[in-house]
Amino acid sequence: MRELQYLNKYFIKYKYHFLFGIIATIAAQIFASFIPNLVGNSITAVKDYADSGSDVDKGIIRSQLLRFILLIIGTTLVNAFLTFWTRQWLIVMSRYIEFDLKNEVFRQYENLTQHFYKRHRTGDLMNRISEDVSKVRMYVGPAVMYTIMTVIRFGVVIVFMYHASPKLTLYTLIPLPLLSYAIFKLSSRINKKSTLFQENLSSLSSFSQEIFSGIRVIKAYSLEEQYREKVRDLSEESKTKAMDLAKLNALFGPFMLALIGVSNLVVIFFGGMMYINGSDGITNIGTIAAFILYVNMLTWPVASLGWVSSMVQEAAASQKRINEFLKIEPEIANESEEHATIQGNISFENVSFTYRDTNIKALENVSFDIKRGQTLAILGKTGSGKSTILQLVGRLYDTDSGTIRIDGKPIRQVNLFDLRNSIGTVPQDAFLFSDTIKNNIRFGKEDASEEEVIDAAKKAVVHDNIINFNLQYETLLGERGITLSGGQKQRVSIARALIKNPEILLLDDCLSAVDTETEEAILNNLLDFSKNKTTIIVSHRISSAKNADKIIILEEGKIIQQGSHNQLINEDGYYKELHFKQLSEKELT
Ligand code: ADP
Ligand code: MG
Repeated sequence: MRELQYLNKYFIKYKYHFLFGIIATIAAQIFASFIPNLVGNSITAVKDYADSGSDVDKGIIRSQLLRFILLIIGTTLVNAFLTFWTRQWLIVMSRYIEFDLKNEVFRQYENLTQHFYKRHRTGDLMNRISEDVSKVRMYVGPAVMYTIMTVIRFGVVIVFMYHASPKLTLYTLIPLPLLSYAIFKLSSRINKKSTLFQENLSSLSSFSQEIFSGIRVIKAYSLEEQYREKVRDLSEESKTKAMDLAKLNALFGPFMLALIGVSNLVVIFFGGMMYINGSDGITNIGTIAAFILYVNMLTWPVASLGWVSSMVQEAAASQKRINEFLKIEPEIANESEEHATIQGNISFENVSFTYRDTNIKALENVSFDIKRGQTLAILGKTGSGKSTILQLVGRLYDTDSGTIRIDGKPIRQVNLFDLRNSIGTVPQDAFLFSDTIKNNIRFGKEDASEEEVIDAAKKAVVHDNIINFNLQYETLLGERGITLSGGQKQRVSIARALIKNPEILLLDDCLSAVDTETEEAILNNLLDFSKNKTTIIVSHRISSAKNADKIIILEEGKIIQQGSHNQLINEDGYYKELHFKQLSEKELT
């Protein structure tokens, strides 16, 4: 339960909702409790009339009855109105809290670094924001509301009952604890079984999801039979669980009826005896009718007890996960409140970096510097640390040793948001959202006009492809849309970076899937575009590197060669070999 205390700050934030909700609940329960009394009184009136023979005017009893009926209708309407407001205040409050909590969790997600994302599966991350938060909402909303309602209803109804007959009240309440305990036990079991069933269902669905994503591989390896078997097993298990649950659920109804029935019998028997004996305050037959209605008012909240308590338990478990998550300190945090325009001068001084989760030393004593307007090309085999350099420039990680400076300032002292805003990155594996092409490009600049989008696409040499689609820039990508080729994806991703008009452009091997002619065209456009920007281009091709002001060759995280194209082709080593290899390939094609 301690975990749920975290939510108190929200109850305080929405204290007026909470307070008005409680006031409305109390008022609603008081009005509801008048109804059995009115019903009892009208029955008593009818009985009195019957007893008196026919010497009383029928008109009087008729108008008396009518008055009771109008009062009952009126009270019911007031009760309905107040119940509406109870929900309005309390359930609406829970939606506000859910909204706030979701935002809090999401903000934390955005603060966390890639280390965190490496360690967690996407499915788990989704659960935290959707399932856990909605379980918590069940606590702040319905659970709290029903608890308040139950407590207040018990208080008010017992006062009304006691007022009518203390002794009969005592008799009626005796079976309640016993039966409520039984119902509580039963509904806890139902909840436990239902959780098991849900868990099974979600593992079944995530398993099927994986099959759908990997269907091509499964077919290629003809593993259909094997997977069908696994799905059958999981479904079988889920069926058994569902049947268990159905059995318990079927028991619940009879149990409830027993609870109500026994209480009613108690009232009829003891109430009847007391009326016959003319003792203990039961002088009106209507009191017995009122008691039956009171008892029925009490049984429903008792039945919800088990349900509420399991909601609270589940919410506590979810909140525990959320609390642990919110406690994680983001590894990369903004350390400067000062804003400054980024010029784009970058320098690395003896930078070393090790990925903590794999303990792989990705960079070792890397030093270079480039000025605004210059282009740096990085070449090297896969795994030599090229992408790592780009990630460090965007401060997605902090270095272990050595210093990275931006415009002469150590990178940690640069405002993180300014830094990231001034960088346009085209990652190695282009990621596009399931949205229109236009919106995918506009992702780099939310308020970009149509012309800007087209201009960026033209610079990335993808415009001609786009206008060939039926819906052109409105073409949907992804799951419900079309699939772009690798090269087209890369170019849309380049357009996204260009539209941002960044001071620093980081291109991570983003021309690998385009043909050399298109590559040439893009590089030409970039030459103009990046005149007073800083560009770092990672590539496997000499053609992408040869015009750079500076070229560095990495091997196992160390710089093994650096210089300009002309210097490097005259120096024995990786660059020269690559140059001649690619030259001869070009001649062959
Ligand atoms: P390149 O871009 O030159 O192919 P990287 O910079 O991506 O190389 O990787 C350098 C080394 O660091 C590789 O050995 C790679 O396996 C490792 N590495 C890269 N990214 C991560 C990561 N997120 N977590 C752990 N190790 C990584
Ligand atoms: Mg890479």
